[in-house]
Amino acid sequence: MTKGTPSAGKKKKQSHGICRRCGRKAFNRSKGYCAACGFGRTKKLKNENWKNKKVTGKRKD
Ligand SMILES: [Zn+2]
Repeated sequence: MTKGTPSAGKKKKQSHGICRRCGRKAFNRSKGYCAACGFGRTKKLKNENWKNKKVTGKRKD
């Protein structure tokens, strides 16, 4: 075991993938919902414009 910067290579597990609804990389795969728009948890678009970056509401290619 080594400490320090080389250990960062082990942290490559991606918890968040591309969200099908908002297109942001905020869809938590294990939990099954999007942290940005709430996809998978709520039908409505989660609105937290006071704290988050822009949620487009549609997928950007
Ligand atoms: Zn989303």
